[in-house]
Amino acid sequence: MIQSSWQEQIKWSPEGLVPTVVQDAVSKEVLMLAYMNEESLAKSLESGQTWFWSRSRNQLWNKGATSGHTQQIESLHYDCDGDTLLVKVRQKGPACHTGAYSCFYREGTDGKPEQEAQTASEDRFGPLSRLEATIAQRDAERTEGAYTTYLFEKGLDKILKKVGEETAEVIIAAKNRDAVELRSESADLIFHLMVLLREQGVPFDDVLKELEFRHRKPVKKD
Ligand code: AMP
Ligand code: ZN
Ligand code: ZN
Ligand code: ZN
Repeated sequence: MIQSSWQEQIKWSPEGLVPTVVQDAVSKEVLMLAYMNEESLAKSLESGQTWFWSRSRNQLWNKGATSGHTQQIESLHYDCDGDTLLVKVRQKGPACHTGAYSCFYREGTDGKPEQEAQTASEDRFGPLSRLEATIAQRDAERTEGAYTTYLFEKGLDKILKKVGEETAEVIIAAKNRDAVELRSESADLIFHLMVLLREQGVPFDDVLKELEFRHRKPVKKD
C-alpha cells in the first residue's frame, strides 16, 4: 500500500508555490513571509534550514546564505486547507534584509484597530510578552546605545553577574521590608532573567508551561 504523505495535501499555486509564514520559535513574533516550491520544501526538510523560492530573482534561496542570518527549523506546519505553510525557527540575527528583526516593522494602521489587536494577543502574559519581544529585537538588531544590546555584546558572564546582583538586591529589599524597593528590584531581576533566557534560547513560554505543569501535580517540598 502506498503511504500518503502530508506533502500531498499541499495546494501549490499554478506557479508551483506555497506562501510560508516564518515565526520566531522563541519570541513567537512573525518574522517574514516567503514562498516555497517543492524543491525548497524538500531542501528545508532535509537540511533543517529554511529554503525558499525567490520570485524576484527566480532562483532557490537559502535564507541567510549571504547575510549569515540563517533560520534553523524547529517545526513545520500546514494550515487547514493546505494552502499555507508555517515554519517556526531559531532566527540568527535579523530576519529582514533591511536589518530589522521582523519584516513587519512598519504599521499600516494608526491608532485603535491595531492597539485592540495587540491587547488581545498579549492577554496571555501581557507586559512580559512585550518585554520578551523587545529583548529579541535588541538581540537581533543590536540597537546602538541600548542597555539590552550592551548586555548581549558583553555576553553570558555579564548577564549572569547582573542576575546575581539583582537577586541580592531583591533579598536586601525584602529583608528591609521595603515594598517600593522590592517592586523595583523585582522588575530588574525579571528583566535580566528574560535576557538570560533569550541568550540561552529558552522561550518564556516554556517557563510558563513548566509552571502550568507543576500546578497540576501535587507539590513536593524540599
Ligand atoms: P540572505 O538570505 O539573508 O543571505 O539575504 C540574501 C538576499 O535575500 C537579500 O539581499 C534580499 O534580497 C533577500 N532577502 C533576505 N531576507 C529577506 C526577507 N526577509 N524578505 C525578503 N527578501 C529577503
Ligand atoms: Zn489556508
Ligand atoms: Zn524584510
Ligand atoms: Zn537592581
